[in-house]
Amino acid sequence: MKVTDHIQQAKETLVSFEILPPLKGKGIQSLYDHLDPLMEHKPSFINVTYHRSEHIFKKKADGSFEKVVVRKRPGTESICAAIMNKYNVDTVPHLICGGFGVNETEDALINLNYLGIDNVLVLRGDAAKNETTFEAEPGGHKYAIDLLKQVNNLNAGVYLEEDLKNTSKTRFCIGVAGYPEKHFEAPNMESDLRHLKAKVDAGADYIVTQMFFDNAKYFSFVKSCREIGIQVPIIPGLKPIYSKKQLTILPKTFHIDLPTPLSEAIAQCKTDADVERVGADWMYEQSKELKASGVPVLHYYTLGRPNLVADVVSRVF
Ligand code: FAD
Repeated sequence: MKVTDHIQQAKETLVSFEILPPLKGKGIQSLYDHLDPLMEHKPSFINVTYHRSEHIFKKKADGSFEKVVVRKRPGTESICAAIMNKYNVDTVPHLICGGFGVNETEDALINLNYLGIDNVLVLRGDAAKNETTFEAEPGGHKYAIDLLKQVNNLNAGVYLEEDLKNTSKTRFCIGVAGYPEKHFEAPNMESDLRHLKAKVDAGADYIVTQMFFDNAKYFSFVKSCREIGIQVPIIPGLKPIYSKKQLTILPKTFHIDLPTPLSEAIAQCKTDADVERVGADWMYEQSKELKASGVPVLHYYTLGRPNLVADVVSRVF
């Protein structure tokens, strides 16, 4: 079922979770162990992230280095299918431009359609680890909106091979990313919002936000979106803090601010367990306020702490 159908049929705020594919070498059981405590809370859908391949330099026996391509977390499409099979829940695979040509993207979409997956979250992806700026693959997409248009085309039965006749149409519900604190490459919020509106005008059905720790930023973002005519659901993304290191890693990696009361409370914690408690209470308060404001879905980034997220969800719902 489509994410937008879940939202339309809901009488109150829904819950969804986001997970990463296991690291290569770990079996799928590690993923089920992660999901089990979360599934008790009856999420409407599970997002599975996509991780592009990276170039690494491997030292050879003679001391020289060899450039090799590795994908540390493969399997997004098949993990979605496995989760649907095991838990009978809808899934949302992430699809990215980075590292993909349009033919590979089309094949991935065809596979997802065969698997009965109704949703995709279309993203540009970040620059490869060895590049300073995002570079599209030769013939690949430069922005998320270009990937979105390819999904639209397939939804209309238009494949890359234009002479295909009587084609089957896919029916993907399309989500896109939004940034309450601005995407880090955008020169200003106005320009970022303009590009977000372009994605919605091109057919995005809903928006999921980057994580934020200050609800005022989400509310202000939603207000700005509505003012420029973005009408689709805007799903807030929440992530728990559970280690002191995140005080610097999260702003550096995701270009977001941590409110002073949160960062000071964490700085004063003596143990990891104390940090988890502060992080959980903060996420609980955020969730409670967002739910009271009538957000369509509370979307939780669960990486590393499924039990913490499950505990918070059981307090909120
Ligand atoms: P875009 O919408 O393409 O925007 C990228 C930048 O370009 C923005 O600054 C925008 O303002 C600007 N822009 C857009 N269109 C134009 C245009 N036509 N001309 C000029 N500028 C333009 N990454 C992964 O690799 N895998 C994942 O699974 C993943 N999941 C994510 C889930 C969520 C909810 C979020 C918020 C992010 C996720 N990311 C993921 C990270 C995401 O790929 C990066 O943030 C990336 O840098 C931007 O992706 P986007 O889809 O927002 O890009």
